Amino acid sequence: MRTLRDVKGLRSVVAGWKRAGQSVGVVPTMGALHEGHLSLVAAAKAGTDRVIATVFVNPMQFNNAEDLAKYPRTEDRDAAMLMEAGVDLLFAPAPEVVYPDGFATTVGVSGLSTDLEGTFRPGHFDGVATVVTKLLMMTGADRAYFGEKDWQQLQIVRRLVRDLNIPATITGCATRREADGLAMSSRNLRLSAEERAVAPALHNAMAAAAAAIRGGAPVPAALATARDAVVAAGFAEVEYLELREAEGLAPLDRLDRPARLLAAAWLGPVRLIDNIAVAP
Ligand code: AMP
Repeated sequence: MRTLRDVKGLRSVVAGWKRAGQSVGVVPTMGALHEGHLSLVAAAKAGTDRVIATVFVNPMQFNNAEDLAKYPRTEDRDAAMLMEAGVDLLFAPAPEVVYPDGFATTVGVSGLSTDLEGTFRPGHFDGVATVVTKLLMMTGADRAYFGEKDWQQLQIVRRLVRDLNIPATITGCATRREADGLAMSSRNLRLSAEERAVAPALHNAMAAAAAAIRGGAPVPAALATARDAVVAAGFAEVEYLELREAEGLAPLDRLDRPARLLAAAWLGPVRLIDNIAVAP
């Protein structure tokens, strides 16, 4: 596996692959890798001839300086994991390579970006949309792999690729969970042992609400029960726990089409997000 940090070198390797008729997949990450990321790599390996993983903690998508400063950085371990997983090329640029002096362009997906996560993390999805656009343009990948763990992000990426005619196919991959149901996340590393024991309550409450809604329970009552259960378990605050249309993310108060239950909640110093499907 080669590690590259500059765009020119990256483009020249990819051009060689393309001349040889090989398809190229990319898995964008912020590092601190876990099995969730590796499942994206496995999907990319199955779907394309060559796989690029990117590790870049994107400052533009952090609306909180402390979250950016404390974001775990484990590049040597990440590189070893990616090599073991069969990645061909690790692209790990410095911030000034992605955002050189004078950088002035923002990609924004209207509507989708200012709801849910966007309400609580203003500007976050503009940072995501901008960096994803740049990574797709820099790599020239035919396919890109994103986790359903970040469901709203996945919908935003699908929309920007369509709206901007970017010639990459987006594949969403199922959320990988710990044995107790907690969605794998790099931020889980920051939970204390006690908080880690409480953390699965979020998924458990969401699964119970999804089952209740599928069983015909009124949506507002099922959501209120779930929010109360999360706080009772020891979370400090539930920012949102809502039922939304699966793709457009419009609010739903009845389960009359494919839906998604999405939530964000604070546990100690960590903000956890999760989502699950709720089929009618
Ligand atoms: P991140 O490094 O957190 O920006 O995540 C990089 C990619 O991995 C994103 O597409 C995430 O949605 C995906 N991802 C993160 N956690 C998981 C998980 N538990 N299961 C599947 N994919 C995940």
